[in-house]
Amino acid sequence: MAINILDRKKVKCPECGVMIDSLLCRSRQYTISDANLDRNGNLDWDPRDDVQESDYEEYECPECGEVLFTNGLDAERFLRGENASTD
Ligand SMILES: [Zn+2]
Repeated sequence: MAINILDRKKVKCPECGVMIDSLLCRSRQYTISDANLDRNGNLDWDPRDDVQESDYEEYECPECGEVLFTNGLDAERFLRGENASTD
């Protein structure tokens, strides 16, 4: 279910205490290449087209840069306010 952007509420970063409504997500990508020797006998990489997405994710506070979560479910709950600290 889509959440109207106007309904987004700010939640408090547990590390720095700043109210935020988004997280900075860092994920890793990697490429797959065919590694062969070229005609000079040196290793040569022939990349295949697709960039692969690994399942590695880090969600950081955009204010202090602390990694708060390492999976999307926790990040989603946090942004919904379900894990927000009350102090
Ligand atoms: Zn923070």
